[in-house]
Amino acid sequence: MQPARLTVLVENTALRRGLLAEHGLAFWLELGPRRVLFDSGQSNVLCHNAERLGVDLGRADSLVLSHGHYDHTGGLSAALEKTGPVKAFVHPAALGPKYARNADGTARDIGMPAPCRDALRQTADVTFTEQPMDVGGALRVTGPVPRLTDFEDTGGPFFVDSSCRRPDELTDDQAAFFETAEGTVVILGCAHAGIINTLRYVRQLVPRQPIHTVVGGTHLTTADEARMDATVAALRQMEIGRLMPVHCTGSAAATRLRQEFPGRVQACPVGAVVEF
Ligand SMILES: [Zn+2]
Ligand SMILES: [Zn+2]
Repeated sequence: MQPARLTVLVENTALRRGLLAEHGLAFWLELGPRRVLFDSGQSNVLCHNAERLGVDLGRADSLVLSHGHYDHTGGLSAALEKTGPVKAFVHPAALGPKYARNADGTARDIGMPAPCRDALRQTADVTFTEQPMDVGGALRVTGPVPRLTDFEDTGGPFFVDSSCRRPDELTDDQAAFFETAEGTVVILGCAHAGIINTLRYVRQLVPRQPIHTVVGGTHLTTADEARMDATVAALRQMEIGRLMPVHCTGSAAATRLRQEFPGRVQACPVGAVVEF
């Protein structure tokens, strides 16, 4: 097994002075000789933090986009200037229109900003991930995650049109994963497909392997008690070794997970480094 190291570049919280936090997510993954940028946060906070943390984005060989929302893709034009040409792994729906409905019924655009879409097309060699796929080295992406649970949803009033008539199923939502001696490591963006749907699918793609670590956004911020109960029960049944819920997990869900899985839940702010 190759040594692996994940550095949190963008998250809603930061570890120390000099690092910036924003609503968004980006990880830097070193996997043997491979260097992978997973998502880009929503702005140039990514580049600021990368520099502070000694991460040379110019060494990136691949880019994985978990889905098309702005808080995961808005840093792309700045990031791609630093990375130069990379192989990008993204579902085609990530490039499409994406809206959220406001409380007053109006819509706001939450898709990939146009300059980022252009930068992606111009700078990256894009592979569309319509099924599970090798990113290179040991890293794989799930592609679209089958929605099989009856207690999970995409987690918000998401639409593909500004009149909020056509729901966005977030088909583009995907996770990345790789194997270690201790089990599989799963990297989530927002898990709009549902954390349990995603983890069960990874278990299917990597049979007979326990899941050692789950790190990323779980989008439990909108989960009601019934969904939390079912999620906790399913996590318990899968015997997940370590949970690092960040970003759109929400503080109530994160607290509940810490209570349910004492000693197995870790915070993961900007600047955190996780070794595998
Ligand atoms: Zn999202
Ligand atoms: Zn998000």
